[in-house]
Amino acid sequence: MAYLSPEFYMHTDNLLIIGALGQIGSELTSALRKIYGEQHVIASDIVEKRTLRNYEGIYEHLNVLDKERLKIIVRKYKINQVYLLAAILSARAEDNPHFAWRLNMESLFNVLELARDGLIQKIFWPSSIAVFGPTTPRRNTPQFTITEPITAYGISKLAGERWCAYYFRKFSVDVRSLRYPGLISYQTPPGGGTTDYAVDIFFKAVQYKSYTCYLKKNTYLPMMYMPDAIRATLELMAAPSSQIKIRSAYNVAAISFCPSELAAEIKKHIPEFRITYQPDFRQALADSWPQSIDDSPARKHWGWEPYYDLKKMTTDMLKNLRKTLQ
Ligand code: NAD
Repeated sequence: MAYLSPEFYMHTDNLLIIGALGQIGSELTSALRKIYGEQHVIASDIVEKRTLRNYEGIYEHLNVLDKERLKIIVRKYKINQVYLLAAILSARAEDNPHFAWRLNMESLFNVLELARDGLIQKIFWPSSIAVFGPTTPRRNTPQFTITEPITAYGISKLAGERWCAYYFRKFSVDVRSLRYPGLISYQTPPGGGTTDYAVDIFFKAVQYKSYTCYLKKNTYLPMMYMPDAIRATLELMAAPSSQIKIRSAYNVAAISFCPSELAAEIKKHIPEFRITYQPDFRQALADSWPQSIDDSPARKHWGWEPYYDLKKMTTDMLKNLRKTLQ
């Protein structure tokens, strides 16, 4: 694994994580701090510091739309890598599509421009399977295929991908991206995506032994356990620039399942667990997305390989949640 090789981390990079308190940011920040050291990884988020009790490590209050403050922080800590995670996710974006467009796009431009001006050298910005739409082939969705998203979130991610590729081609900005599938984790609550059921179900299974699902039982979606998503991010960012041949965003895949299959796996650990189904507006969003993803370019170019399958993920989630919720 490239990111474990010591030579890669020998130079003293300083990293800024924007949106560090979210589902991905909180885990990515600790992973990066283990690699680079506490003092080299600056966490930032729109949440005011005084509201965070016992936050460990350097933290800056930052609204990413405030370009001047972003620049001040980048200069203050001599930042050379930015991980931009602030965004409005799929289900929430439907409530306020214009604001979602503004936040998701302006934040990206603010960071891309810092790189174009030579202030930072490397950017990670996540895309999503939401770039696909109902006209995309839904099984084993290829890297290069029809992308006609129907959600405000998907439109912003697709445009973002094109701008990343543009800044790389035009200004040689080293920006890298993954199309994350639905991410499953236990440390922080999910941020309002359509795949959040696959996190909630575990919390409800441990706490109440029952769950009402907002998707139909046979809705297959691509998913990934957070440790795999963090490793994919670290490996993408550690790979030599010449290996990153796709500068829009890479498909990455791990597991594909539907609510009834996940419920059956949970039942193996909690036999009393019951699931009922009450589909809501999120069903239409899920129906417009792929059921499984072909990630062969990521595997070929920089060696991506997932570790967690449904069984391993379920065992690990339940073990950790039981500890957390005790
Ligand atoms: P999240 O909603 O859990 O976290 C986002 C963080 O950004 C929050 O802590 C929020 O306070 C912060 N934020 C919001 N507005 C901000 C602003 N103006 N300035 C600074 N910070 C701000 O989201 P997440 O799940 O951690 O997702 C991170 C990224 O990954 C997003 O770009 C998202 O689209 C992408 N992604 C996530 C998933 C998933 O399943 N979680 C899947 C695909 C892509």
